[in-house]
Amino acid sequence: MNARSLRTQHELSGGIFHGTADTETIVYTIVSERLKVSATEEAVHRTMRQLQGAYSCVLMTATKLIAFRDPNGFRPLCCGQTPDGTYVVSSESCALDAVGAKLIRDIDPGEILVFGKEGVVSDRRLCGGARALCVFEYIYFARPDSVIEGTPVHRARLRAGRFLAQEGPVEADVVIGVPDSGIDAALGYSRQSGIPYGVGFLKNKYIGRSFIAPSQDMRETAVKIKLNVIADTVRDKRVVLIDDSIVRGTTSERIVRLLREAGAKEVHMRISSPPFRFPCFFGTDVDSAENLIACRLHSVKEIADEIGADSLAYLSVEAARRLAGEQGCSFCDGCFTGKYPIDIPEDQGKSRFEQPIPVQPE
Ligand code: SF4
Repeated sequence: MNARSLRTQHELSGGIFHGTADTETIVYTIVSERLKVSATEEAVHRTMRQLQGAYSCVLMTATKLIAFRDPNGFRPLCCGQTPDGTYVVSSESCALDAVGAKLIRDIDPGEILVFGKEGVVSDRRLCGGARALCVFEYIYFARPDSVIEGTPVHRARLRAGRFLAQEGPVEADVVIGVPDSGIDAALGYSRQSGIPYGVGFLKNKYIGRSFIAPSQDMRETAVKIKLNVIADTVRDKRVVLIDDSIVRGTTSERIVRLLREAGAKEVHMRISSPPFRFPCFFGTDVDSAENLIACRLHSVKEIADEIGADSLAYLSVEAARRLAGEQGCSFCDGCFTGKYPIDIPEDQGKSRFEQPIPVQPE
């Protein structure tokens, strides 16, 4: 969160930056601190004391691999080992599988883990703060074949679907999910409700996430070519449509329309996260409040009408907090509640969102 002010400090003392990534500011701070201490890991520790917000980093020197994670653990970071003893660090455990490494454990919030000639050394001086893993990692960001904080992401998404079926039941003929992260939740909804699961969409693999596209035109085009309905699954059926979130509403509106054009009799939308109403200060690129549909509109019914669905229900915040199940993981859920695990500096633009409109149940 304080990357801009740290960067300015470095620039005022002669630092020249080559890009705009926050990572460069972190590296610059580590290099500055390294000039004052004898070991890189000590420079990392001193840097972490200056950084505010979310980061999970891996750093290489000529002789060491150093992994470090912010004291709240907003983003995941884990380490593993290949059969020949090589250590691997990754943001997600699925990357360990890809190189034949076994997951050893998550790197703890605030921990600095150093892999060097002396073996593996853990510096835990900054551990012990309030844990606040981004709940969106389970809902949307992470791959379902990853395991975070001991909970498989796939299992957390199935659980989200089960909770959603309990909180937002509806009579229907088929449950379908919006690929990719809506699929697991749709399976969970189907198992809990007893409504058969169906494959409703074919996804174009060669186009990215539409809400990250920089302009409205590009997002609209992205949605159009991203998904194609499998009409046979939905024709003349009452459809439960599961997606992981509604951000601006344009994608959802388009998808509901596609289903109706393919012959769906009713479309009941269920969202495996609570309404997105507040900004994220921890790395998720969210549009301004006036573009977030749950900020613009007062009630779930109004949102349902805008996207053209027969009904709509979101996962409750309480259920989202139970996604990790038995692991009892503590989450950040700031973009749903407006309550953040750490104080947000004024210059981060929080005031734009200070008086959000509460979303009323239907
Ligand atoms: S505000 Fe939302 S998206 Fe950002 S870290 Fe918290 S839960 Fe994740």
